Amino acid sequence: MSLLIRNATVLTVDPADRVIEDGAVYIEDGRIAAVGSSAAVESAHPRAARVVEGAGKVVLPGFVSTHNHVGNTFFRGLAEDVGLGCVTGQYFPMATVATREERLAVGSLTYAELVKSGVTTTFEMEEEADVFAPFVEALGVRSFMGVMTFDADIDAMAKDVYRYDEARREAQLRQAIDFAHEWHGRAGGRIQVAMTPNMTISSSPELLRASREAADRLGLRTSIHVGWGEYEVEVIRRLHGKSPFEYARDWGMLAADTMCAHCYVVGGSDTEVLAASKAAVAHCPLMNAVRGHVAPIVEYRSRGIPVTLGIDNMFADHFEVLRACVSAARVKTGDPTVLQSSEVLRLATMEGAEALGMGAEIGSIEPGKRADLQMLDYRRFGLTPNLDPVRNLVYHAHSKDVELVMVDGNVLVEDFELKTADASRLIDDAGAAAEAAWGRFVAKYGGFMAR
Ligand SMILES: [Zn+2]
Repeated sequence: MSLLIRNATVLTVDPADRVIEDGAVYIEDGRIAAVGSSAAVESAHPRAARVVEGAGKVVLPGFVSTHNHVGNTFFRGLAEDVGLGCVTGQYFPMATVATREERLAVGSLTYAELVKSGVTTTFEMEEEADVFAPFVEALGVRSFMGVMTFDADIDAMAKDVYRYDEARREAQLRQAIDFAHEWHGRAGGRIQVAMTPNMTISSSPELLRASREAADRLGLRTSIHVGWGEYEVEVIRRLHGKSPFEYARDWGMLAADTMCAHCYVVGGSDTEVLAASKAAVAHCPLMNAVRGHVAPIVEYRSRGIPVTLGIDNMFADHFEVLRACVSAARVKTGDPTVLQSSEVLRLATMEGAEALGMGAEIGSIEPGKRADLQMLDYRRFGLTPNLDPVRNLVYHAHSKDVELVMVDGNVLVEDFELKTADASRLIDDAGAAAEAAWGRFVAKYGGFMAR
């Protein structure tokens, strides 16, 4: 199968950040075979099975969102204004009442929303991550997926009491490891399972150490939330006498294969610990800003710490993440020119790919790479005049402008419509599932917040 996109503006995100006007991309057997001027590419590949007209359109790599919890769309409309209390008061307690079917319904919707937003690779951490694998296979997205393990007593944790349970730990590790045995490398390699203990406070040292051992034994990457709250710092200091970064590092969960989510509460020598670990930061500027936090990513990048972008949870328009990244960095530094558009586009694509060990495969539009890309229609409200296609993208584009999305050369979105799942049904099922789950939550906890 071959496909040619011609007469488009191509944002390559290659090492020279080339922007090709009147450009073309030729795709063969799921990979990018050629990119360049329309005239050159068309004359070299005159017999494409399919031709997509790209006049007025912009082609760029699909976004790599390195931190997601699609199932947390349960909390859309309920957790945005309550601060960090939602972590122990809503997120963890929901895991005690929501069914796997409800989680699947809510998460499937958001997987689809992200694809419609130009996201072609996600890193999903989820209590029931395994439940999504068949849907991910059918949807066609590329996804790292990890069961978000914990061995703390959740209802005690909501009351600031910390105790860890061996039986729960064994069950959680079994779920995570069984998932890896069943799904790692499947769906044409699009699914990669990871070991992902949720966070420091919900993990005993034994859970972190066992997660590291499993990751090494099975060849899996890792992820964990670290540096997300003053409360986390206080609890880890109380329980273990060290910072969350030191605690994660000391038990193997801050390493070169770790996607370290958030990292906005950093003190003492935490930045040195992070830099020495070679872990990458999954920066979630939109979610973090809503919670009143900004990670020091300009400093991180100056110290060689890889910074990538994640949408985290509840939100669904990945273009907002790029804008939030720029705004947050400028508020943090006081410098209105820091983090230029081409840099944030690189964080959203190539830097994410590299941090996930996939820099040779995805993240840019270059010959030989997998055809994971998106095309936006710029002849729409909000994108004219088009004097600089990269700035227009970063500052003015939205999910609604995404016309075409491909993963491995397969079309997932075409003519602004999802092709690999039924959007109306996803919306209806997710709404019904969330209502049912919250009904049980309120019955158990007496309101929308467990205390
Ligand atoms: Zn998270």
